[in-house]
Parts: sequence; structure tokens; C-alpha cells
Amino acid sequence: QEKDYQFMLRTRNPGGYIPPQLYLTLDRLSEEYGNHTLRATTRQGFQLHGVLKRNLKATIAAIIRSLGSTLGACGDLNRNVMASPAPFAHRPDYRIARDYAERIADLLRPQTEAYYEIWLDGEKAITAEEHPEVVAARQRNGHGTLVHGSQEPIYGAYYMPRKFKCAVTVPGDNSVDVYTHDVTLVVIVDAAGELQGFNILAGGGMGRTHNKEETFARLADPIGYVDKADVYDALKAIVATQRDYGDRFQRRHARMKYLLHDWGVEHFRRQVEAYFGKPLQPFKPLPEWRFYDYLGWHEQGDGALFVGIPIENGRILDRDTLTLKSALREIIQRFQVPMRVTPNQSVILYDIDPAARAEIQQILSRHGVRSEAELDPLVRYSMACPALPTCGLAITESERIIPKVLERIQQLLIQVGLQDEHFVVRMTGCPNGCARPYMAELGLVGSGPNQYQLWLGGAPDQTRLARPFIDRLHLDELEGALEPLLVCFRETRQAGESFGSFCDRIGFDALQQFSDSYDPS
Ligand code: SF4
Repeated sequence: QEKDYQFMLRTRNPGGYIPPQLYLTLDRLSEEYGNHTLRATTRQGFQLHGVLKRNLKATIAAIIRSLGSTLGACGDLNRNVMASPAPFAHRPDYRIARDYAERIADLLRPQTEAYYEIWLDGEKAITAEEHPEVVAARQRNGHGTLVHGSQEPIYGAYYMPRKFKCAVTVPGDNSVDVYTHDVTLVVIVDAAGELQGFNILAGGGMGRTHNKEETFARLADPIGYVDKADVYDALKAIVATQRDYGDRFQRRHARMKYLLHDWGVEHFRRQVEAYFGKPLQPFKPLPEWRFYDYLGWHEQGDGALFVGIPIENGRILDRDTLTLKSALREIIQRFQVPMRVTPNQSVILYDIDPAARAEIQQILSRHGVRSEAELDPLVRYSMACPALPTCGLAITESERIIPKVLERIQQLLIQVGLQDEHFVVRMTGCPNGCARPYMAELGLVGSGPNQYQLWLGGAPDQTRLARPFIDRLHLDELEGALEPLLVCFRETRQAGESFGSFCDRIGFDALQQFSDSYDPS
């Protein structure tokens, strides 16, 4: 008899968009076939954990029938396309960013109909050609034709050397961690809000391997600007460059970031331009990036409201007095509002009639869901990956212990007289970096059982790469390691300087010297 294999299933939701019927289906599936929880991911999708192999088909078919998809959420191809989750209706640039997340997802979606054949067989009510996802793609940009055969129009016969990640945002909005993707497009509009084109950043990526110096986290570089009419061709040229020149021999060296690193930006740009058929234009000047999590109540710009609901580590469940899963189900059943998953593992409900605000807030409060104002900022801006027990790559704990870790850091801040201070803490159970810990002001990256690499020096708005300060920090020694750093910060910071920026400015040698000579008495 076959073993009871269980799976993690991840949804594909460009820009984090989850229509109400899809959310309710995912909620039901997590009860029927999953582990009774839903996990919002850092790429704006949902994960279902614990789905048994024999239930996979029913689960995926139900998602497809609810106008969702899992196609391309994993694998060596374009993953879920991210976009700023703010559902602003009055800002054309935000509308364009959301729209282009969908368009890019369509452009780089595998065209094979095998997905539908495998997961929808016996389902005569809908054919693959009739699936709304395919129809919508065809309407948007003509890329919805299914392929019969082994050659994909963009991916060819062998797909990509490794996963490929794209994001779209607007100038100044760094809710998507702009520097961490293979490609980030920044929407450029004119004074009237008309789309002109896109700035392109390329070559970011978080994943690395401990003790393998040739693997590293890397920030994307600005590589140029294209007019709107050229954006698909430019994107296809970048994908083709990585498809044809990315390392297919060493998987650890296969992401596009290594191509940029090994070649340099100029060589990479020239190769892209060779496929593109013309030069990329100079990158347009941009304002400074700011991180936004969009929690709390906001005007949408068209008379409706949206509310960002904090989800600690993205885990939607009912536990003790916090019954978030029931709250979301009740709100969505009653008001049929759509959702956007945020890149910070929270969700936004939008298109809310102002008349419904009081009732929705009352439901949230009744289920113990804290508002952003009630959250400690250390918790609000933190992220952790799932790690143990559901991730096969995990070396150690992350999601299950970060609440305790944050509590301990809070206590330490009080103890050293920095109770009003907060910074971005991110934690992962292995160096793959799913919660983007290398962009944090304080990153903890699993390096052994209960041991973590300590990364310092990232920026509050995620614009600078952190660096490893301690290779193996046993969790029992957390306070001992952090206390001198925080005292040094308290005593020598500049006015208004954040902890990450302080660590970056003062340098690790100075931090180490201070730590070595620190006398806690
Ligand atoms: Fe990702 Fe590693 Fe965390 Fe697993 S343990 S979720 S691979 S970072």
C-alpha cells in the first residue's frame, strides 16, 4: 500500500488578488484536506499545508473551478508576479501596476494544456480552452493560446534553469521589496497619469547556501527603461537571456543574479539588448523607496474603503482568543469583498462600502483581531518563513518560535532603555531566505538546530543588503549577543538613525570591538 504522502500546495495570485469565492474555497479546502490553516506567503499567494496525495486532485480542481490556479506557483519558471497590494482606485499608477502583474503572469505562464488535462480530467463542465484564466489572458494580451506539444513559446523544451521572480510597483512604494526579484518593473506615468513605460531592475535574489561563498543574496541593479509598447519584448529578452545563459549545471548557481554578478551589468544589458533588438533607454530618476504595509483602514479613492489586517507570520487559523480564520470567513461570506495578500504576509480587504465599516470592524474585534495600532511595531514589521514542521528544507524553527524571540527582544529593549525603539526583524529556518531576511535590520537565518546566523545592517525601508555578523548564534545566547549591540546603538547612534543603518554606518569591526569589551555589570 502506498504511503500517505502529504503536500504543500501554493496558489498563483498575481498582485495577491483573491476573489471572494476563491478565498472561501481555500478556507473550506484547508478544513477538508489541509491542516486547518491557511498561510499567506511573502510572494502574495496562499499555501495549503498537509494535503494528502489522494486529495490533491480534488483540491486543485476546486481551486481552478473557483477561478484560482496553482500553475507556476512552484517550479523552474516564472513564479507568482508581485505588485503593490494597495487597491488605490484614484492612482492610475497603482491600477497599472496591478494590471501589469496580471499581464506579466499571462505572458510568462506555461502555455501547455497539460495542467488542465491532469487536474481537470473527468471534469467535462469546463475545458482548458474555456477556463476563465486562459480566456482572460487571451483578451488581455493575446497570450492565452494553449500549446499541444513539447515546445513552449518562451520556455522552449526545458523551461528555466531555476525559478524566476517578477514584481511591479510604482515609484517610491517599496511594499514589494523591489531589490529582491529577478525583474522588477517600476511604472512610469506622465502628469496626466498616462502610462509611459517602465524602469527595469534585474538580478535580485535572496537564496544562498551556508559555507558556499559562491552563493549569496544579491540586490537587483537598475538596467534601463522601456516604453510601454516595448515592455513585453524587453521582458521576454531578459527571460531568454537567463533561459539561454543561466547555469543549467549547478543548481546553486542557476538564478539570474549569478549571471549579472559573473558578467557584470553592462555585459548582461548588451545580451538583453541583442535579444530585444534595440538599446534599453536610461533608467528614469526615482524618489526614495519607502516601505508600506497598508494595515488599518484607508480611503480607496473611489468612495470605497480598504482595510489591511495584520496576520502574524501569515498564518490564518483559529487559536485561543484569536479566531482570525473565522473572522475572515464571516466577513467575506457576508460582504463578498475581494482580498489582496500583501508581500508582508498580511491581507487587505477592499471595495468596502463605508456603511459596512463598523460591522466589519466589530467582527474583527469580536474575533480578537488586533488593529495595527495595538500591535507592537517589532511584531508588525517582522516576518518569518514556515520552516519546521512543514518545510522540507528547514534546518531549524522559524514561524513557531519568532513570537517568543520578538518577546525576548522587546524585553531586552526595555532593559537597555530603548523601549520606544523598533526595527525590522526577519527569520528563516534555512538560508534559502523565503522571508527575505537579508534585507532586514536584524535577520536570523537558521544554521543548525536552534542556531542562527545573525545578519545586521539592512535598512528600515529594505533598500540595503544586510551582512552576516555572527555565523552560529545559539538561541540561548540571543540576549548576550544583542545586548552590547543595542547599548552601543543607544550610546553612539546619530539622531533619528535606525538600528540597521547604525550597524551599517559604524561597521562590524567597531561593533565587534564594543561587544568584546562590553561589561554588562
Ligand atoms: Fe524557505 Fe528555508 Fe524557510 Fe523552508 S526553511 S520556508 S526553504 S527559508
